[in-house]
Amino acid sequence: MKVLVAVKRVVDYNVKVRVKSDGTGVDIANVKMSMNPFDEIAVEEAVRLKEAGVVSEVVAVSCGIAQTQETLRTALAIGADRAVLIESSTELQPLAVAKLLKALVEKEQPSLVILGKQAIDDDSNQTGQMLAALAGLPQATFASKVVVADGKATVSREVDGGAETLSLKLPAVITTDLRLNEPRYVTLPNIMKAKKKPLETIKPEDL
Ligand code: AMP
Repeated sequence: MKVLVAVKRVVDYNVKVRVKSDGTGVDIANVKMSMNPFDEIAVEEAVRLKEAGVVSEVVAVSCGIAQTQETLRTALAIGADRAVLIESSTELQPLAVAKLLKALVEKEQPSLVILGKQAIDDDSNQTGQMLAALAGLPQATFASKVVVADGKATVSREVDGGAETLSLKLPAVITTDLRLNEPRYVTLPNIMKAKKKPLETIKPEDL
């Protein structure tokens, strides 16, 4: 079974953001960019499912500018098997990302799509929900535990009143909460190995 993991390149969480002098947005010139922390958790979860023998292939996908390849290389170093960059220089809102991911889901036919619950730049918390709705797939957001077996995913999620457990028929969409796992450190040998893994670049028009 195949898992698709969506990763976004964002300003590193340790960086104190500055507003551009003309007030039009955040200044990202010469600022350290990293993988969205919730997406690291998503990649880690997919790789753990592969290590447990439940999953056979982990595909990382990102939508963004050419430099987003670096973020995908990090996903490959954590343990993803291959990566797809949907390259666009346009600023993409969650609905646009969800539409691109939906087209990729149709092409790749994964059994599971894992996203972060939100990207720490815009804090939208929308893409996973929109993807599930557009693709007509069941969804479990803010997952703090995921068990995949017998064509089903059992997901524990934190809600205001405590914990809730959902059972989803695969294929399904899951978004990660902070307590799902602790992502591993990326080691130098794995960074080197990641350089040799396949990274395909496609354009939104191709989808
Ligand atoms: P958001 O709805 O923007 O808060 O993002 C929620 C999740 O959607 C993120 O944690 C990512 O998994 C995914 N996502 C958002 N934007 C992108 C993007 N440009 N490329 C890939 N995945 C994305």
